[in-house]
Amino acid sequence: DEPLELEEIVFDKVSFSYSDKGPDVLKNVSFTLRKGQRIALAGSTGSGKSTILRLLTRTYTGYRGSIRINGVELRDIPLNKVRNTISLMQQDIYLFNDTVGFNIGLGRTGTGPHEIEEAARFVFADRFIEQLPGKYDFTIQDNGDNISKGQGQLISFARAICGNSRLIILDEATSAVDSITEYYIQKAIEKIFASRTVIAVAHRLSTIRNSDLILVMENGEIIERGSHEEL
Ligand code: ATP
Ligand code: MG
Repeated sequence: DEPLELEEIVFDKVSFSYSDKGPDVLKNVSFTLRKGQRIALAGSTGSGKSTILRLLTRTYTGYRGSIRINGVELRDIPLNKVRNTISLMQQDIYLFNDTVGFNIGLGRTGTGPHEIEEAARFVFADRFIEQLPGKYDFTIQDNGDNISKGQGQLISFARAICGNSRLIILDEATSAVDSITEYYIQKAIEKIFASRTVIAVAHRLSTIRNSDLILVMENGEIIERGSHEEL
C-alpha cells in the first residue's frame, strides 16, 4: 500500500480505555496536526502521551470519538497503509538480531542500501557505524547488547526517517547517554523537526522550543495547549 499524502490528522473528542471495564486513560482529547507542523506532548508519567501515539498508529481501534486522517476515519484505513504513512519510534527501542542495515531499513519498500546510508548520515549515526567491523553489515545482538544505548537510539532515529513515511512519531526514551551522544541525539531531533511532520513526546527543552504546538497532558486530559511563548 502506498503511503497517504498526509494533509491533516484530527483527534476529535477521543476517549479510550485499555479494557472494557477499565478507566478512561484518554478523556475527550482533541487536536489537529497539519502537514509540516510539529506537535510536542508534555506531561507527567502515565498521563496518556504514549497512548495517543499508539492510537495514531492504529495499534488499538476501540477508541471513542473520532480520529481522522485527511477526513477518513482511522479504523477504516487499512493497517498497512497507516504503517507506510506513519513511522513510530517507540519508547522501548526494539533492535533485531540482524545487521545494522536491516535494523534501519527493516526491509520496507524504498529502503535500499543507499537510502539506509543516507538516513544514517542524516541523524549522525554514520560516524559510529563506519567504525563497526563490517559497518552496515555488523550484526547487532538481541536487545542491542553489543552497542551502546545511545547508538541504539541513533539507529532507531535512522529507522524512523528511512523510507518515505509522511509522519514521524517520536516516543523518545529518556535513558542516560554520554554527553557526546546526547549532543548528536539532540541535533538529530532538531533536523527531523526541521524537515518532517512530527508528533513527539518532549523531554528536552529544545524539542519544546522547536514545536508549533505543545499539548500538556494530565491524567488523560489536555490541560494546557499553546506555543512555547504562550505557555
Ligand atoms: P510515560 O511518561 O511514563 O511514558 P505516558 O504519558 O506515555 O507515560 P501512557 O503509557 O499513555 O502514559 O499510559 C497512560 C495510562 O494508561 C497509565 O495509567 C498506564 O498505566 C495505562 N496503560 C498504559 N499502557 C497500558 C496497557 N497496555 N494496558 C493497560 N493500561 C495501560
Ligand atoms: Mg510513554
